[in-house]
Amino acid sequence: MLPAPDNLFELLLSKGLISAKQLNIAIIQQRVTGATLAETLISLGFLTSQEFARTVAQQAGIEYLDLRTFTLSEQALRCIPKETALKNGYIPLELTDDVLSIGILSPSNFVAIDNVIQLTGKRPKVFLVDEEAFGDSIECAYYFANNSVQQRLETLLAGLNTAAAIQNADIPDLTELLVMDAIQKLASDIHLTPSEEVLHIFYRIDGVLKYSHCLPKIVLTSLASRIKIMAQMDITEQRLPQDGAFTQLFRKKKYELRISTAPTVHGENIVMRILSTSGSIRNINSLGLNDDIIETLRQLFSKTHGIILITGPTGSGKTTTLYSCLRELDLLDKNVITVEDPVEYRLNFVRQTEVNDKTGYTFASSARTFMRQDPDVMLMGEIRDKETAQIAIRSSITGHLLLSTLHATDAVTSIPRLLDLGMSKLLLSSTILAVLSQRLVRKICHYCKEEYELGEKEQLLFRNAGMERNSAFRGAGCDRCGNSGYSGRTSIAEVMVFSSEIKELIYSEASMEAVFQAALRGGMVPLFTEGLKQVAAGQTTINEIQRVVG
Ligand SMILES: [Zn+2]
Repeated sequence: MLPAPDNLFELLLSKGLISAKQLNIAIIQQRVTGATLAETLISLGFLTSQEFARTVAQQAGIEYLDLRTFTLSEQALRCIPKETALKNGYIPLELTDDVLSIGILSPSNFVAIDNVIQLTGKRPKVFLVDEEAFGDSIECAYYFANNSVQQRLETLLAGLNTAAAIQNADIPDLTELLVMDAIQKLASDIHLTPSEEVLHIFYRIDGVLKYSHCLPKIVLTSLASRIKIMAQMDITEQRLPQDGAFTQLFRKKKYELRISTAPTVHGENIVMRILSTSGSIRNINSLGLNDDIIETLRQLFSKTHGIILITGPTGSGKTTTLYSCLRELDLLDKNVITVEDPVEYRLNFVRQTEVNDKTGYTFASSARTFMRQDPDVMLMGEIRDKETAQIAIRSSITGHLLLSTLHATDAVTSIPRLLDLGMSKLLLSSTILAVLSQRLVRKICHYCKEEYELGEKEQLLFRNAGMERNSAFRGAGCDRCGNSGYSGRTSIAEVMVFSSEIKELIYSEASMEAVFQAALRGGMVPLFTEGLKQVAAGQTTINEIQRVVG
């Protein structure tokens, strides 16, 4: 990383991305390690690679591009050899008739521009990208451009057409290709679902299952055995559910694969969850939440005691939001301890622990340890049963801020859920500060976005939410988005702050409808309305909001 100009750090300070205290610590550490100041701020977790690049881009007047949500074009990659790109610090992004778009790390990388003109004769269009995403993307992108996983997988599957071919099939290769194919398509899960005749393979992409491949059913046994061996599970057991995990290094990036098997009438159903382990914690401003919610969250996180909960279904980005909020705290001033299952993000200056059933380090025992560790803020991965609910209450009434997640469909239904977990209405109304409920919604693909006229029913949806619209956007479907019309996701959320009115209502066992109305009076914008606002802003579609919020 090149040394950044001094006034850049002033800009970072004035934008509130780093504090003067953090800058001082980084300067001290930098003297010891010899790294650049920007590198040090990033390695300390005070600044993300993305925030730094965005600021550099802003200062240089270049557009920033996030490679994490961008699919690089194979034609563009073929224009420039990998070694040339790496040596000159750029990455080819997209190719049109006379323009080659490239991502550069430094705004003064004129060599890259020269390089493109000389090698391709095309006009370069320049975007600034961040170093973390650059490192992650370049290896993978060139690998996929030069080794068509899709093609190899299709060839292998097409060859499985005789009993002898299936017998001799290269199962380790097939397993690896499936995982790589899923990684390339940014899938979060692979589902191996046997039916009576065949084995169906689905990928979960942006939260939605997508039918991907069909295999001869006879492959299931060997595929299951292969996966179980890798995940250190019992290969002889096929009638009971099992869990396991293994780590896979792919193009210098580590992926953790969590395996779950369940017996079905047609054989073992296998789900492989793919967790990429090097993701940095996102800035609260980049989650897609609206400014009012961010401001409310900031105020809530500055409290010294009480409970803040984030609710939503599995895979709705609860942990991501929790960590983005945690990053907003002054971690140098506060002792923050976490107990998680498992630790999904790593954050400097936070004491993170992981439950381990084998060693007996459970949520319950961790609570006792917590108290002796003089904490200010505690993060407990999830309130999942009566025991964890008790721990949360005990922590908050002894003067700590406790953060956790809970399975509940929206902010208001968290109340019956907590009562169900044995919290008394008195403790509930006196300890809970707020509940945020959130969802991830798919964003319309940038490449095939189109405007369309709204029908009567749809116009009415907007009118009921106090908005007047007669058109909206949708994705027509294109190669870049696998014909789904969507690419990437953003968050929508509602926050219910426990005002004295709401506390009173809970204590007097008022109906949930009464609590909901009070929350609206207190300024809560319900999830569905928040979703429609995103539709109006051209971010997502009505269908998507209806699918996710219902
Ligand atoms: Zn598209």
